[in-house]
Amino acid sequence: MQAPQAPHTEALQAACLTATLESISDAVLMLGHSWEIRYMNGNAERLLQVIRSDVVGRRVWEVFPEAVGGPYHRAYHQAVETNMPVTFEEHYAPLDLWTEIRAYPSEEGLTIYFRDVSERKAIEAEINRLAFYDKLTGLPNRQLLLDRIEQALRDEHGQGGAVLFIDLDNFKSINDTRGHDKGDRLLQLVADRLNDSVRSCDTVARFGGDEFVVLMEELGVSAKDSARATANHLLQAFRAPFEVDGVEHYSTPSIGVALFGRESAGVDEILKRADLAMYQAKADGRNNFSFFDPAMQERVSARAQLEADLRRALVNQEFELHYQPLAVVDGKLAGVEALARWRHPQRGLVPPDEFIAVAEETNMILPLGRWVLEEACRLLARWAGDASTSALEMSVNVSTVQFHRPDFVEQVLEVLAQTGARPALLRLELTESVLLTEVESTAVKMQRLRDVGVCFSLDDFGTGYSSLSYLHRLPLSQLKIDRSFIWGALKEAHGAAIVRMIVALGRALEMTVLAEGVETSEQLAFVRAEGCDYYQGYLFSKPLPEHELVAFLARDA
Ligand code: C2E
Ligand code: CA
Ligand code: CA
Repeated sequence: MQAPQAPHTEALQAACLTATLESISDAVLMLGHSWEIRYMNGNAERLLQVIRSDVVGRRVWEVFPEAVGGPYHRAYHQAVETNMPVTFEEHYAPLDLWTEIRAYPSEEGLTIYFRDVSERKAIEAEINRLAFYDKLTGLPNRQLLLDRIEQALRDEHGQGGAVLFIDLDNFKSINDTRGHDKGDRLLQLVADRLNDSVRSCDTVARFGGDEFVVLMEELGVSAKDSARATANHLLQAFRAPFEVDGVEHYSTPSIGVALFGRESAGVDEILKRADLAMYQAKADGRNNFSFFDPAMQERVSARAQLEADLRRALVNQEFELHYQPLAVVDGKLAGVEALARWRHPQRGLVPPDEFIAVAEETNMILPLGRWVLEEACRLLARWAGDASTSALEMSVNVSTVQFHRPDFVEQVLEVLAQTGARPALLRLELTESVLLTEVESTAVKMQRLRDVGVCFSLDDFGTGYSSLSYLHRLPLSQLKIDRSFIWGALKEAHGAAIVRMIVALGRALEMTVLAEGVETSEQLAFVRAEGCDYYQGYLFSKPLPEHELVAFLARDA
């Protein structure tokens, strides 16, 4: 047998090659050295929407003129010039098609394999949308916003810009009253309105919940003015109601603005500033905007520091009590008021006005208040043994949070039992805010303590909002007129009238009346003339540490 003839072999090889090229899933295009189309498989015909017999032999740029000079053109040149394969992905506009292309140079010219990857691209785009856009509103989400701010900050030629942090006022109410789907609808409408109210180059993002952020870039030297104008514009845009499924709903925003320039801090810092400014806008009455200013930051840092210091102070027992003598108007000592002091290791003696409010907000007032009560009751118990002090009353301030604890009564009873202090000499000072809520249970609690002999005073009277109608339902035995009225009495026209009215009220409700903050003998003469029973103030004595109180008592005796 003889081997087959060469021409046969070549024909066979060509037929094999064609069969292979026709059967692979890629589209194949073979170009000659002068870019003429030498071969194309069936997949290429379908993908490029041409008929093989029409195009074979013609130059590729004639058949696909739109590709001239484009990325295809450059890539093919590169493959030919470097004699290296080139791989790239391109969107082929005439057919709205994403193709993945591999071009292999050879001695005959260039073989190009390509395939339609539109579907994969669509999936990638969808994944991108899900990762970077908010599903409900379609706005860029927090992640994309952070990226854009980051880019803006990194842009060396950047002109500086502004971040507007927008929080809807009372958004919760629509969720609560009309359901979450209506709340969602409102957020969508708000998103549209925000988009309509800013420049097309600004980014409106949903930061989360009812929080939105507008990023304004390239503002230049007029950044502050532009940001202010936009903030005003946004407030204006919210004046019109939102039509939520046929029902008009009014919503207002609180806006915090932080500017950034090239020297700026990081993304987190800028957003934090805008957020802080937003809280300021809320504090200023909502439906408002506020610029970040460094003092805000200082206040927040100082507050955080104070909170941390307070926690440490509780552990290290840095508190002490001072006692301010209280007098009958005739000058006789009636008792003392225990006042908390904080011996701060760096700052020295810190007055309660600087820490009680924070202690209340953080509930640290609970352990602190308990300690004050114990300390005061221990002194009260020690006084019992001495005839000169055994009749003195001890007044202790009780915070609203403390009083409203379910076990408050038990705590007081426990401290009284532990220390052996006489309940009848303990006086608890409540402020009007205690009486604002839960009047019934408040009355019950007070009565239980009253039953064992504990007395109650209403502190800072006249500064709160207590309703006079239920004063008589509570077992109070004393009104303490706030010192602002005593100071106003001799200066302002109606000052004296207020003091007179409180005294009359106290008489009618069978309570004694104490005037706070008496500093001068004129004031004393006045409160005595008006019928006050007791007074307290620097005229009689300042609050004293215990050893000075002992000296005061000895002098008084
Ligand atoms: P407060 O209960 O009205 O206590 C009276 C405050 O007036 C005390 O300030 C006292 O030093 C001050 N004061 C008394 N007489 C005069 C005067 O003639 N002139 C002036 N200018 N001031 C006078 P302090 O000790 O700084 O206490 C401030 C507030 O802190 C207290 O007001 C009370 O509300 C709160 N506080 C103090 N200790 C405690 C405590 O142990 N527990 C709670 N919950 N609050 C406390
Ligand atoms: Ca008090
Ligand atoms: Ca007071």
